[in-house]
Amino acid sequence: MSSAASISTVQQMCEQQGLRLTKTRRQVLELIIAADGPVKAYELLDQLKRHDGNNRTTAPPTIYRALDFLLQNHFIHKLESINAYVFCAHPEHRHNGQFLICENCDRVIELHGAGLSRDVAALASSKHFQAKRQVVEVYGTCEHCQH
Ligand SMILES: [Zn+2]
Ligand SMILES: [Zn+2]
Repeated sequence: MSSAASISTVQQMCEQQGLRLTKTRRQVLELIIAADGPVKAYELLDQLKRHDGNNRTTAPPTIYRALDFLLQNHFIHKLESINAYVFCAHPEHRHNGQFLICENCDRVIELHGAGLSRDVAALASSKHFQAKRQVVEVYGTCEHCQH
C-alpha cells in the first residue's frame, strides 16, 4: 500500500465515521507512514517542528493528542516495549496488534491472528480479568537478516 493510498483510506474512514482528521493528526499520520517502521513520539515532534518552522502549535501535548486519536481509532499501533508507533497495515478492520520485531534491522511485521486474540481474551476472562487491550510482541531475526 503506497503512503498516498494509506492516507486516503484513513481519510475515507474518518469521513464515514464522522471523525476529524485535523492538520496535525494528518501530519503525524503521514510521518508514521513515511517512517516505514517504528517511530517514537520525540522523533515525530522533531520532524513536525522542522516542518512547521518551530511553530507554537507543535508542542508535545499536541503530538500526544494526535497519537491518542490515531490509536483510539486503530489507524496506528503502539509497540509497548520500545514505546514506538507503527502504521496499521489494515486500519479498515479493528484488531489487536501482534508484531514480529527484528532486533537487527528494526523491521516490524504485523500479524493478524484472530484466534490468538480470542485465546488471550478467553484466558484473561477465565481469571476474571477485564482486558482492555492486548499487544503481542515477538522478538527475533527477520527473513531478510537471516541471510
Ligand atoms: Zn493493525
Ligand atoms: Zn531484520
